[in-house]
Amino acid sequence: MHGGFHPKSSTLRLYTIHKEGGRGLVSVRATIQDETSKYHKYIKDKAPTDDSDSGEQRMRAGLKDSTEALILAAQEQALSTKAIEAQIYQTRQDPRSGELSLSQKQPAPAGERESFCSKHPEQRPLFCLDECRSMCPACEFSLHYRHKVVTVDSAVTELKEQLRSKLQPLTQRKEQASNLLRQYEEINLYAQTQVEVCERQVKEQFERLHRFLQQEEESVLRALREEQSRQAHTIEPQLQKIREELSTLEENIQTVEEQLQRQSMDFIREYRHTHKQTLLPQPGLKPGPGLLINQAKVLGNMAFKAWDKMRAVVHYSPVILDPNTAASFLYVSEDLRGVRMGDIEQQVPDNPERFTYYPIVLGSEGFSSGSHQWDVEVGDHSDWCIGLVTESFERKRRIEAVPENGIWYLELDCGKYIALTVNNELNLKRNPQKIRVKLDYDKGKLYFYDTEDMSLIYSHTERFTEKMFPFLDAYVSQDAKTKGIKICSTKY
Ligand SMILES: [Zn+2]
Ligand SMILES: [Zn+2]
Repeated sequence: MHGGFHPKSSTLRLYTIHKEGGRGLVSVRATIQDETSKYHKYIKDKAPTDDSDSGEQRMRAGLKDSTEALILAAQEQALSTKAIEAQIYQTRQDPRSGELSLSQKQPAPAGERESFCSKHPEQRPLFCLDECRSMCPACEFSLHYRHKVVTVDSAVTELKEQLRSKLQPLTQRKEQASNLLRQYEEINLYAQTQVEVCERQVKEQFERLHRFLQQEEESVLRALREEQSRQAHTIEPQLQKIREELSTLEENIQTVEEQLQRQSMDFIREYRHTHKQTLLPQPGLKPGPGLLINQAKVLGNMAFKAWDKMRAVVHYSPVILDPNTAASFLYVSEDLRGVRMGDIEQQVPDNPERFTYYPIVLGSEGFSSGSHQWDVEVGDHSDWCIGLVTESFERKRRIEAVPENGIWYLELDCGKYIALTVNNELNLKRNPQKIRVKLDYDKGKLYFYDTEDMSLIYSHTERFTEKMFPFLDAYVSQDAKTKGIKICSTKY
């Protein structure tokens, strides 16, 4: 026991069990308490003045000799324990002023500290860092073997330090979250303008279709009027003829009837003339063809014919550009087929799909199988790049544009045609105006053709493993008539 409370030993070691090199304060304390109560009895029974008969008094108190020796040692030890206690609790209590028992600490001054344990209101609580809770040292000590137990004050200091260290990352996270919120709000606003753009275009395009259909309807109605007119022109002369014949016949009948009324000489005199009139052989009239409205001509395949004609005004594009992927300087046309580079950067959100380093816009659909082709009209544009990129191709920062990084392209740059990598310059017999890009994914083939005579510009073979997206990339074309490049639409 001696030396167990050595002021230089760690206070924590006091609470650690012997096996682990500590001092097993709990059992020590139990011994002290036991011995203390006996010591109290011994002191109480012994008159303060009478120290001559300590043996008798000791007997009365039921203490052994060895215990008395221990009491003296403990008394000495208690003084140093008090000193340590004073250190732990940072009190200025004179170690000599207190009594021996560890459990009888001075109560805290009123208002300074609330009592923690109802059974031991005078005890200052300790704090178990392992369980992160306060504890009464008198009741609960055995429950905290091997735990890191400290005074409340140092727990507060340590925990505050821990909390303080979390403050900066929290502030950073808060800032990140606020930035993200702002970004989302901008995206939301932008999405609303997208809705407006789409709405306007839907209305315009359907209005065009409605107008077309209305014109078609008018045209069919006009055809009906024509048919009506034709029918009238067919039937009218025939009707006229019939009416004329009818009236002639009526006249003749009247003539004959009058002739029949005549007396002999009159009758004879007129007979030749009358006979001639009645003998006029009139060919019998009968209805001819085409007297009715030709309904079949007016209505037959009417809707199909309208739809067939409509194909002339609608277009199909094998690749539709996705404006959400377009770099901010790239202006995508309203029909989502063409792109040009503008002078003014557009205010577009930096969404994950968007290219922010290369002036690229992707097709909205990627391919991971089958055969696909599309024509790109480049005209006399002088600075463009077309081809395919993988879905995972880097969109936000510079990356070498080579097939290993997921890009396969044909480019015109400073008058040079380049395929796939910077050093691969091509010698073309003419400047193609329109280029066909053809991908056979399954066979791993990529072709570029000049559509004018379908001559092959370049072909490449590779085993494609990822989804690939068509892309257009256009820079400013200074002196060219063609300001942008576009996907050609096809007719059905
Ligand atoms: Zn207690
Ligand atoms: Zn504990």
